[in-house]
Amino acid sequence: MKLNNSINRDSTPNHSEEEPDFCNTSCGRSLNFDEGALRAAHNFAFRVPRVFSELIHWRDPQDPILLQVMPSALELTTPPGFTADPLEEAQFLKAPGLLVKYARRVLMRLTGQCPIHCRYCFRRHDTFQDVPTQGDAWRPALEWIRREPSIQEVIFSGGDPLMVANDDLLALTTELQTMGHLKRLRLHTRMPVCSPGRINNGFLVWLTELKLTPIIIIHVNHPNELGREGCAALARLAAAGVTLLNQSVLLKGVNDSVAVLEALSDILVQNRVVPYYLHLLDPVAGAAHFRVDEALARSLLRTLRQRLPGYAVPRLARERPRHPAKEVLEA
Ligand code: SF4
Repeated sequence: MKLNNSINRDSTPNHSEEEPDFCNTSCGRSLNFDEGALRAAHNFAFRVPRVFSELIHWRDPQDPILLQVMPSALELTTPPGFTADPLEEAQFLKAPGLLVKYARRVLMRLTGQCPIHCRYCFRRHDTFQDVPTQGDAWRPALEWIRREPSIQEVIFSGGDPLMVANDDLLALTTELQTMGHLKRLRLHTRMPVCSPGRINNGFLVWLTELKLTPIIIIHVNHPNELGREGCAALARLAAAGVTLLNQSVLLKGVNDSVAVLEALSDILVQNRVVPYYLHLLDPVAGAAHFRVDEALARSLLRTLRQRLPGYAVPRLARERPRHPAKEVLEA
């Protein structure tokens, strides 16, 4: 199998049925950025896809989706302990684009592009210079995986791996499927919810024809993010038989209340998505204003456990550099 010469990772992936509309700056609205917000946007661009932008109440500065995407002067303050690379990921690089952090799994960073720029993203300062831009540049990573029989699962990450065209996903998985020790393919993506048109027929065909067992981990922080089109995309994925999990980040002002987290779990389960992780914020420079105190996080989880069935309560987790696994915190 020959990999394509170039991987399509520009902002309009190769999916013909329903092209998402990525709005880099204004989403067709006139937005007034103050000077601090402009400087923050200069550091990490404002970016929100059309479908997601339609879920925002733009006149409400505290709208929980708006807070996640709107640049703020608060990003210009970096308290001690907040850094550009809070998880020190560079140490895990085994080949271009290939991170090996945990046993039996590898993470392939397919792209540095995302349909949305989340202001709290722990990779917001990442230059993604290690990510291959030509298909053949994946050869060292693929050969590394081929030589490691302990690896059972490949995780496609990014940026957002669904910024990569279906044909390029197919080229990579065709090669991975020749490795008998691999069992599962996991995708970490925000696309089904924030740009649901990406879950098109071509993608679903690729997914259903995979020989590796697919698991998709979406990223939703607030129930308002699950609009009509996002729910329809999740229904298409559920109908394709894929295991769907969600991970959220606990964000001050967005989802740091029992009512919001309970409503989030409820709408996820209704859409056949298991609430999997609730992450404490990674201490990335520019995101300190989103930090939720750990004691409050534990207390929120305690109350959720009293109100929800066990399958609907996410695990409270923290990632630390140089640790062999995520740390799951007791409530
Ligand atoms: S979609 Fe994920 S990788 Fe992309 S900016 Fe948001 S949190 Fe970061």
